[in-house]
Amino acid sequence: MGPAAVRHERMFIGGDWVDGSGRETMDVVNPTSENAIETVPRGTREDARAALDSAQQAQPGWAELPPLQRAAYMIKIAHLIRENREKLASILTSEQGKPLFESRLEVDGSAAHFEYFAEFARRIEGDVLPSDNPKQTIMILKLPIGVVAAITPWNFPSAMVARKLAPALITGNAVVLKPSSNTPLSAIEMVRLVEQAGVPKGLVNLVTGSGSDVGDELCGSKVTGLVTMTGSTDAGRKIMQRASNQLGKLILELGGKAPFIVWKDADMEWALKCAVWARFWNCGQTCISSERMYLDGSIKAKFLSHFVKMTKELRMGDPMAASTDLGPMVSSSERDTSERFIDFAERAGSKVLLGGGRPTKQPKGWYLEPTVIDGVSQESELVQKEIFGPVVPVLEVETFDEAIDLANDSAYGLASYVFTRDNVNVMKAVHKIRFGETYVNQVGPEQLQGAHTGFRMSGVGAEGSKYGLELYTQLKTCYIDWSDEPGLPYLFPYK
Ligand code: NAP
Repeated sequence: MGPAAVRHERMFIGGDWVDGSGRETMDVVNPTSENAIETVPRGTREDARAALDSAQQAQPGWAELPPLQRAAYMIKIAHLIRENREKLASILTSEQGKPLFESRLEVDGSAAHFEYFAEFARRIEGDVLPSDNPKQTIMILKLPIGVVAAITPWNFPSAMVARKLAPALITGNAVVLKPSSNTPLSAIEMVRLVEQAGVPKGLVNLVTGSGSDVGDELCGSKVTGLVTMTGSTDAGRKIMQRASNQLGKLILELGGKAPFIVWKDADMEWALKCAVWARFWNCGQTCISSERMYLDGSIKAKFLSHFVKMTKELRMGDPMAASTDLGPMVSSSERDTSERFIDFAERAGSKVLLGGGRPTKQPKGWYLEPTVIDGVSQESELVQKEIFGPVVPVLEVETFDEAIDLANDSAYGLASYVFTRDNVNVMKAVHKIRFGETYVNQVGPEQLQGAHTGFRMSGVGAEGSKYGLELYTQLKTCYIDWSDEPGLPYLFPYK
């Protein structure tokens, strides 16, 4: 595609599609063709402030609507997402590179987020509590926080937007959304549908631009009541520092390093299928991807030989084609990072059993072969750092307890996988694996009613579930005196 085909998209501030205060634009590049497909404004700090102001003005009116009316808008948004499924999926694949069938699933999931959180319209419940004073009533309310800054990554450019917008809206908040600079188009298209659903002007705003500028401004502003960000642990740490000025509330969904344990008594055929999906889904660019396999020593050789054979059969190619299992990585820099892990492993004397390079059949596009590496130590960078690409290190374990210990030996604690039919092992995994999610004899993705949350450096707070929803609300306690004769509370020591 030549430069003439490059279109320009705008930001959405105060209910208008605008170019913002700066003149600069950013290219959105298709990872398959390596060509720019669209440009978007490089938003500025001023744009971020304008979006926050709009959100702040629109929020009180939205919060006054009965929750059921807010839910009605959300159901409409979900409906529009489903109606535009093909268009949204094709935009997603063209900017992110995942196969079209995965994009369709992601778009379905985005609609489901709006439907699921709309169900809470009648269930944002507080408490009425007994008081120590017989003529007093205590009420705890869950109020909107106000303005939510939602910062999203590129690996699920549609679902991550929905995962933040939906709980924010049902609880009566306004939103300023900043999507990843790699993949702003899915977010723009979704916000277009939000507009089409008729939500009040200024309630949902979208500012494109870098995290270090627009994102930083959103996180440091006093107008922002909550920052909900999904992304890398490094960026999460910076956001936490920035928000600390005003002790800002945070939900941070960060990096992972999921262990994938296969025990000798597991259903091998099923475990193999799951192992391939868990690592190579979205070309390995998923926070819950299997990132290190721990195999029982007695089955390791056989399991690995089948795993390599099945991985070899994955069809890499144009993500728009129905026959493609594996598309390109999102960017050349992400591919470079994964390649550095492979170089490191080779220099350390590990054995690359499969892949390790760029496929010759794809001269264009940021493709990287699915790569399986054996002979890796627990201390290696391959086991300790997040590898956000199609590369998996394999380790051998002698006992199930050892597998749990090694799984827990990580700075990350997001998802984990265990394949065994032994009930004792299952219960050990449930209680002893210190990760926010444990999948037993199955792979993800997570469901909406589950709390998506991370131990250690995988995050703060949660998303999804009633627990995630509550983080979009502010608790308030009211003490109401209803005595016939006003007087001092009976515990008051002075007359
Ligand atoms: P990233 O580089 O951390 O970026 C995520 C978002 O944060 C982008 O919109 C980015 O903006 C913005 N950002 C970066 N620095 C910022 C700052 N100082 N202040 C405010 N905003 C800032 O992550 P990514 O590469 O897009 O996504 C991959 C990462 O996300 C992986 O580590 C993966 O594990 C994690 N992830 C976690 C989950 C989960 O649920 N736990 C789900 C999906 C992905 P720009 O990039 O536009 O500058």
